[in-house]
Amino acid sequence: MSYNPFAVAQTQIDKAAKALGLDESTQQLLRVPQREYVFTLPVRLDNGKVKIFQAFRVQYNTARGPAKGGIRWHPDETIDTVRALAAWMTWKTSVVDIPLGGGKGGVICDPKTMSEGEKERLARAYVRAVSREIGITKDVPAPDVYTTGQIMAWMMDEYETIMQEHHPGVITGKPLALGGSLGRGDATARGGIYTVREAANAYGIALKGEAMAVQGFGNAGQFAALLGEKLLGLKLVAACDSQIGIYNKNGISAKEIVDYKLSKGTLKGFKGGKEIASNEVLEVKCTVLFPAALENSINEKNAQRVDCKISCELANGPTTPEGDVILDKKSVVVIPDYLANAGGVTVSYFEQCQNAQNYYWTETQVHERLDQKMTAAFKAVHETSVKKKINLRDAAYLVSIARVAEAVKLRGWV
Ligand code: NAD
Repeated sequence: MSYNPFAVAQTQIDKAAKALGLDESTQQLLRVPQREYVFTLPVRLDNGKVKIFQAFRVQYNTARGPAKGGIRWHPDETIDTVRALAAWMTWKTSVVDIPLGGGKGGVICDPKTMSEGEKERLARAYVRAVSREIGITKDVPAPDVYTTGQIMAWMMDEYETIMQEHHPGVITGKPLALGGSLGRGDATARGGIYTVREAANAYGIALKGEAMAVQGFGNAGQFAALLGEKLLGLKLVAACDSQIGIYNKNGISAKEIVDYKLSKGTLKGFKGGKEIASNEVLEVKCTVLFPAALENSINEKNAQRVDCKISCELANGPTTPEGDVILDKKSVVVIPDYLANAGGVTVSYFEQCQNAQNYYWTETQVHERLDQKMTAAFKAVHETSVKKKINLRDAAYLVSIARVAEAVKLRGWV
């Protein structure tokens, strides 16, 4: 049977519901989306033909606030992927305790083959289809796989054209010139770095001068290397992209390797260390490992060889359940993905707050408030983990699902 992410999401809910002793109606409510929209979007291509795209928006749960979640443009998009990601967004906004629910959107398309004009027409068509269902009090989309700040700008403009009013907060991840927030660029990695600092304190692990390795050298991975060095005093010893890894036990300058990757588009040929296979980076001896590439990277085949004290999951789903059991036995402190990478959605929420006030914060204010949110989130999860004698991943589910369960109960939905 093929992998169904929504079935996985439902299994996780069932496990947490059992551990929390939730009643059956609450469990049944939390294991299905509250609302979902499926629509067809006719879009004129540059060659004059009209192509029909299938699109989705799922509002998984809005008990704690308006739905929040990105819009993915991907050829393999399915309603079940969108449902699963919308469920995970519900737990992510809950674990960092921001007053939002969870949602996700998607369009089945291949953006790599589309012109800018076709992308703009698709973006505007999507918003025309969902304009009555989104908004600052209902559902606030954001960028995700293959959707960009420019696409958010077109979507905001289409929404404002329909409403005949300014509504910058209808969507986040906008360019700065249109109401984006300072500090959004590195927010995911920065949030992860704050949780590493807290984990090191909680588990008595020294960080200064210790080694870090970064798997995946895109937005999340590059900022993890830069901020790990700057804020925690970690020494980068290994990094990789999809093609190649670089290793130097004496340390690699984070700035040099990031500049190299940005200018060449690859780590191939970087002289600051020896070349190793990409997947070997996961097995390098280090204090902190940042899986920041793809899902299913640490699994039953390689988890035994993972040699870190803390694994800070910046990617979504980098460790399989089988991999998790092995890391657990090896006493690796795994900071689970939807806590570790929640900095991005937290600063998206800050963007909404600033749009609502029509008053913009300094970068320092964004960093301080992000630190407060991430620190409080880590502490709540760690406390539950100690109290219940479970790992941080299971504890994060308990904390977040319990908060959503409380909200649906207080509203009288169950
Ligand atoms: P990105 O596309 O900028 O970078 C991904 C990097 O991973 C690239 O350097 C790519 O070469 C590398 N990669 C791909 N396959 C690999 C492989 N098999 N081995 C090693 N490296 C490989 O993406 P990103 O925005 O940095 O996101 C990375 C992960 O973090 C994703 O799982 C994403 O869902 C998650 N995430 C990102 C954000 C964000 O704000 N950027 C927020 C939450 C979660």
